[in-house]
Amino acid sequence: MKVYIETEHLILRPLEPDDAEAAFRWCGDPAVNRYMIYPLYHRAEDVRTWLESRNPDDPDSYDEGIVLKETGELIGSGGLHRVPERNAWEIGYNLRADQWGHGYAVEMLNALIEHIRKEHPVEAIDGIFAAANHKSQRVMEKMGMSFVRDTSFDRLDGSETFPAKYYRRNFTQPADRCLVCGRIEETLRGENPYFVRELETGYVVLGDYQRFEGYTLLLCKEHATELSQLTPEFRAAFLRDMAVTAEAVENAFRPDKMNYELLGVGKCRHMHWHLFPRRQGDTPKPGPVWRVTDMNDECWRPSPEKLEELKQKLNRELDKLL
Ligand SMILES: [Zn+2]
Repeated sequence: MKVYIETEHLILRPLEPDDAEAAFRWCGDPAVNRYMIYPLYHRAEDVRTWLESRNPDDPDSYDEGIVLKETGELIGSGGLHRVPERNAWEIGYNLRADQWGHGYAVEMLNALIEHIRKEHPVEAIDGIFAAANHKSQRVMEKMGMSFVRDTSFDRLDGSETFPAKYYRRNFTQPADRCLVCGRIEETLRGENPYFVRELETGYVVLGDYQRFEGYTLLLCKEHATELSQLTPEFRAAFLRDMAVTAEAVENAFRPDKMNYELLGVGKCRHMHWHLFPRRQGDTPKPGPVWRVTDMNDECWRPSPEKLEELKQKLNRELDKLL
């Protein structure tokens, strides 16, 4: 998409074919290109061909020219494009080597993200960069992103494979976009009567309807849809918190079997564990709870006294395990 944004030191504006000569200064520089996916350009005409081939109106791509206000020179390009399968916007940029080290990439990306968030839900930003590219790692860290896992990528011409790192930052969503983020906000304001306790990675809450007595949820503190989107440390802690919560539910409500489900769909695409204490004959036919049609009937909403009793029972058991 075409944007025009001014920041403290920079102007972000659409790239034009006539920028070819200026862009060749970084597109043709082996130092800038060292860890890039695209091959090094050897002629400014080829940069022009690339600039002419771009679709500046693609709503899923913001790839802008970066102009240094002080001199009026085009010093790089970059931005974000949407990656639907990861629910994320991936960052990419190139800066002329003589302009490195001033924080321009971070300044550009932060301004652009703020702009994109007004037009699209941005659930997360992702960055994949060559492991040896320490400068990019610092940019990711300054963007508040964290290491998720090692990966690799190939140059488009197949000439080289780079061991790489995948960094990510998840963004909390407004309540009208994510009901789980909304519920967490309510909890933090002290307005969620179902709230039981805060753990390191999530919030323990009782289910609104207690058709299966002791039904408990653990809401992930991160707005993320898959375990694969969490840092290794956070993921391990989240799984531990789930196991502890489930054990407390088991001890408090003495079911015949616990059911564990990590779900998230529609406006609840935000990981949350459903922990169901199950008992012999608690459904007309054996099977998952979701086959029961009366689960959310108002008659299963606990009275304030009953709710207090369930919360106390669960909290006592959590106390013993934490
Ligand atoms: Zn959320």
